[in-house]
Amino acid sequence: MSTGPTLPGAPFLARLQGELRLEGHSLDELARRFGTPLFVYSRAAMLSALAAYQRALAGRPHLVCYAMKANSNLAVLQTFAAAGCGFDIVSAGELARVLAAGGDAARTVFSGVGKRRDEMAAALAAGVRGFNVESEGELRVLDEVARAHGVRAPVSLRVNPDVDAGTHPYISTGLKSNKFGVAHDRALAVYQLAASLPGLRVAGIDCHIGSQITQVEPYLDALDRLLDLVEAVEADGITLHHIDVGGGLGITYTDESPPAADVLVARLLARLDARGHGHREVLLEPGRSLVGNAGVLVTEVLYLKPGEVTNFCVVDAAMNDLTRPALYDAYMGIEPCTQQPDVKAQRWDVVGPVCESGDWLGRQRDLAVAPGDRLAVLSAGAYGMAMASNYNTRPRAAEVMVDGDAAHLIREREKVADLFAGERLLPR
Ligand SMILES: *Cc1c(COP(=O)(O)O)cnc(C)c1O
Repeated sequence: MSTGPTLPGAPFLARLQGELRLEGHSLDELARRFGTPLFVYSRAAMLSALAAYQRALAGRPHLVCYAMKANSNLAVLQTFAAAGCGFDIVSAGELARVLAAGGDAARTVFSGVGKRRDEMAAALAAGVRGFNVESEGELRVLDEVARAHGVRAPVSLRVNPDVDAGTHPYISTGLKSNKFGVAHDRALAVYQLAASLPGLRVAGIDCHIGSQITQVEPYLDALDRLLDLVEAVEADGITLHHIDVGGGLGITYTDESPPAADVLVARLLARLDARGHGHREVLLEPGRSLVGNAGVLVTEVLYLKPGEVTNFCVVDAAMNDLTRPALYDAYMGIEPCTQQPDVKAQRWDVVGPVCESGDWLGRQRDLAVAPGDRLAVLSAGAYGMAMASNYNTRPRAAEVMVDGDAAHLIREREKVADLFAGERLLPR
């Protein structure tokens, strides 16, 4: 049987004798064993994605901080921590996950536009490597919290370089109109403030211009804007140790061809060298590109509803399991777990059971399917389970990590009783 075009996630995701396999494991078999909807991740695919960054950074002072909001399962964090990866966190909850997974706070940076005092305190107590600070107000609060703890908080300013990452408006973060970061033309003054506050120690500079970026140029533009600032800040007597270029590298969902991570990093390092900054420690905060193509969401076809205008293929996964299509109008590949040579392909809208017209996973897809068949939604390793909700009182899916010959359940399927365990009836 044909293997068809290259699948996003290849070579770890491949079709063999009609069966879709992740790291050699039949997705249909895993679905029979663990039920659906089911997220399945390949550990080897994650490590391979990380290795591309690490290879390109070898021989330089560097730290890759996995932006764990993309997929925060403990086993995923454990996998990256064991491979020497640090973490980029955006809440005290994420910090707790890093620690629970055996990650190192000293290799963890704390990002986010709205850190609370208690979260800052928890991060200081754990000994995080640094805070990516996004406003003057946050700088002053962090200074207070650090002094109350008798420590100096290491800070980098997240600078908004005002470059267009050319991506979806919801996932573009480096424009003046975005809520993120300190404006480029205010940054020098804010660094001067940071250097004057006794509870802070200026450590570096940071930016993050968006997500699902498929070109190198926006990164180089942002880096140039950052280096202009580094030079101005250091001319003012404030030393910046590291440069954090953020995350945001895109993956292939359909026909995108983003640069490989090692190509992107090589271009960034070349620009640093060309401008005389080759000695600096480089931090990166990739999320999606480390996990996105390492995972799929397996779902079962419940009903086929052919219609006059649209044919609907109703599956047991929904927008609460995988929100990217509804939220960003995102395209995700959909493939039958087992090819059905006897079924005629038809054009289907693949939709879930949730009571919203926005509840769709794919539109106008040519698929040969019958009820009871299973489909794999591809590239679902990032911003899949991490954004899942319990809308419609639907328990969240189970997660499995395949690793060589083994398939490990890394998160149990939620039970309905779990969903309202914290709720209380009114007194009668
Ligand atoms: C989300 C985020 C990232 C990672 O973005 P990806 O597109 O998943 O690589 C990195 N840094 C910060 C500050 C973020 O908020």
